[in-house]
Amino acid sequence: QDNLVEIRSLKKYFNVKDGQTVKSVDDISIEIRRGETFGLVGESGSGKSTLGKTLVGLQSPTSGEIIYNDQNVLDLDRETARNVNKEMQIIFQDPHASLNPRMRVGEIIAEGIDAYKLAKGKQRTERIYELLERVGLRPEHAKRFPHEFSGGQRQRIGIARALAVEPKFIVADEPISALDVSIQAQVINLMEELKETEGLTYLFIAHDLGMVKHISDRIGVMYLGKMMELSNSDDMFRNPLHPYTQALLSAIPKANPRTAKRERIVLMGDPPSPTNPPSGCRFRTRCPHAMDICAAKDPEWKQVEDEHWVACHLY
Ligand code: SF4
Ligand code: MG
Repeated sequence: QDNLVEIRSLKKYFNVKDGQTVKSVDDISIEIRRGETFGLVGESGSGKSTLGKTLVGLQSPTSGEIIYNDQNVLDLDRETARNVNKEMQIIFQDPHASLNPRMRVGEIIAEGIDAYKLAKGKQRTERIYELLERVGLRPEHAKRFPHEFSGGQRQRIGIARALAVEPKFIVADEPISALDVSIQAQVINLMEELKETEGLTYLFIAHDLGMVKHISDRIGVMYLGKMMELSNSDDMFRNPLHPYTQALLSAIPKANPRTAKRERIVLMGDPPSPTNPPSGCRFRTRCPHAMDICAAKDPEWKQVEDEHWVACHLY
């Protein structure tokens, strides 16, 4: 397999008040293949954003390894680290909050160009115009401020800013969750188009499986800092193995309810406090299939088929 990113036993713990620890990312090992879209799904508090931010270097992990293009990114000289940082970019959920309201759009897009000295003068201006056009905006938009744009347009600006440094890997942290449904498909289409033209690899984070279904080659499901299941997108929808995935899938509305076979699985209770997760399987307090062993033992990460992994004592 040609992996662009490999995550090995990655942990990101946060110390919170009263000496408690939140294990936001707790021993996760996955590979992201060159050219794929890896969908990462989980409820809020599952650790998916923390995983994404840690991957692009916005936070340093508590332990574990991140391998990018066969290099251990936590163990690089400054020059190489800078180049790796440039190739790994992130797009945020709320383009309103992530764009400086006092900066003109052209200058926002040029931040990375300037930081890495990729162009100056007339070339820099042309590059800004080119990036705006690539995301479906116009050169004259460079002079305007973020508040003059709609939510969908602001997300396009965020995408242009990420593209400015010619990344190879983009973490998209819920890039469409804050947008109107009618705009979501446009942004997804743009991202899919750019993936081909720019040769990108995506980690696409979402809180619901429906959002990643069509865009993802493979999907991983997280719950309270742990990976619960990973498979190619088709198998995840056709044959979900983990009770949590089954519940998430059952909550997606059907296009035609008459032909829907799946019963809605209603999970018991709320997610437990991340500072005090249940012993054994973290999902057991809400799992309809919980057994004695589930409280005693953390299920292992098991490969059950060629492209299908699950952490559950049922398998
Ligand atoms: Fe449910 Fe047990 Fe599987 Fe956890 S390990 S998902 S509690 S059956
Ligand atoms: Mg988040």
